[in-house]
Amino acid sequence: MRIIKSPKELTRLLKRLKSSRKKIGFVPTMGALHEGHLSLVRAAKKQNHIVVVSIFVNPTQFGPHEDFEKYPRDFKKDATMLAKEKINFLFAPSKSAVYPKSFHGYLKAGELADMMCGIQRPGHFDGVATVVKRLFDIVLPDHAYFGQKDYQQALIIQSMVKRFHLPIKVHIKPIIREVDGIAMSSRNVYLTPEQRVRARAISASLKFAKILIHTGIQDARILENKIRHLLNAYMDKIDYVKIVDSKTLKEVKYLKGRILIAVAAFVGKTRLIDNLLIKL
Ligand code: AMP
Repeated sequence: MRIIKSPKELTRLLKRLKSSRKKIGFVPTMGALHEGHLSLVRAAKKQNHIVVVSIFVNPTQFGPHEDFEKYPRDFKKDATMLAKEKINFLFAPSKSAVYPKSFHGYLKAGELADMMCGIQRPGHFDGVATVVKRLFDIVLPDHAYFGQKDYQQALIIQSMVKRFHLPIKVHIKPIIREVDGIAMSSRNVYLTPEQRVRARAISASLKFAKILIHTGIQDARILENKIRHLLNAYMDKIDYVKIVDSKTLKEVKYLKGRILIAVAAFVGKTRLIDNLLIKL
């Protein structure tokens, strides 16, 4: 595994590999890696000759009162984990390398960003779309891998790829969970042991939703209220509970077709998200 900091150097190396028909798989991350990230790395290894993982805590996707400064960072540990996975390149650029003074590629994420997480986190998805486009331009991947955990983000990236006609296949991979059901997240380290136990209610509420659907519930509002009711007992604040069409992210009235049940809630000061995709 080579650690590369310079965008120019990485592009030069990868262009050379691409010209000898090597398929490039890319996994963008913000580091503080866990098994969720590694599942994407393993998927990329299966489908490509060359695997590139980036670690960059992207300032443009954090709001002014969010956790950019205290976001967990442990580059050494991450690099050791990735070396074990035998990836080819770990791209770890500086802020000025990603956003040089001459950079003018700021993007708007589009209408998929106007709902769910986009409401409480204005500008967040613009920052995500901007950095991922910049990283795609540097890495020139054939395949890119994103987690269903951040489903809205993955859809926004897919629409960005369409918008720019980029020759990149965007894969959305399943959520990797801890043994107690909690979706793995770099932010779980913020939780105290007591909060960590309460956080289980999020994945439990999604399991509960699945059971209710199987018992024949059809009205989305009724299901949403039942999820809310359960979460209320454990969360400090519910940001949203949404039942939406899995392509448009627009709220549905009835539980049919491909739907996404998505939850965002605070345990203490930590905002956690989780979701469930169901085909009915
Ligand atoms: P992050 O480092 O949080 O920006 O995440 C990098 C990538 O890993 C994103 O595509 C996330 O959706 C994905 N990811 C984060 N947590 C998980 C998880 N528990 N299971 C699968 N993928 C995940």
